[in-house]
Amino acid sequence: MPGRRDLYDPTGERHGIPTFPWKLAPEGYATYRQLRAAGLRPGGQPVAAQLLRPRRRRGPLTAYLYRIDRALPVRPMTPARRAALAKANAAQQICPNCRCDVGYRIPRSHGMCGTCIHHEEQRAA
Ligand SMILES: [Zn+2]
Repeated sequence: MPGRRDLYDPTGERHGIPTFPWKLAPEGYATYRQLRAAGLRPGGQPVAAQLLRPRRRRGPLTAYLYRIDRALPVRPMTPARRAALAKANAAQQICPNCRCDVGYRIPRSHGMCGTCIHHEEQRAA
């Protein structure tokens, strides 16, 4: 079990990249998720630092950090991108089982539309 000392390595001497304990992220860094929430993307920069959170009986949970000052705005929506997205969404509205366009996105975990699920359940009952 690594001690707290092992999780604090701001120079990256032991871990190869600057490492901080969970919740002690330095100023100016953000995770990919945090960047996206702010409308930013890493923009090709390498991972700048990492956060480690110790876990019982497993390796520590790792979150990679990027420098906010090197992040770029998310690619703007172009007509071609919008069309590709619309097409992908439309495809997800078609039930793979009955081929009906149900008008909403079918969750992949369901794999079929509500009507089909209902019929399957009826059959199983
Ligand atoms: Zn269906």
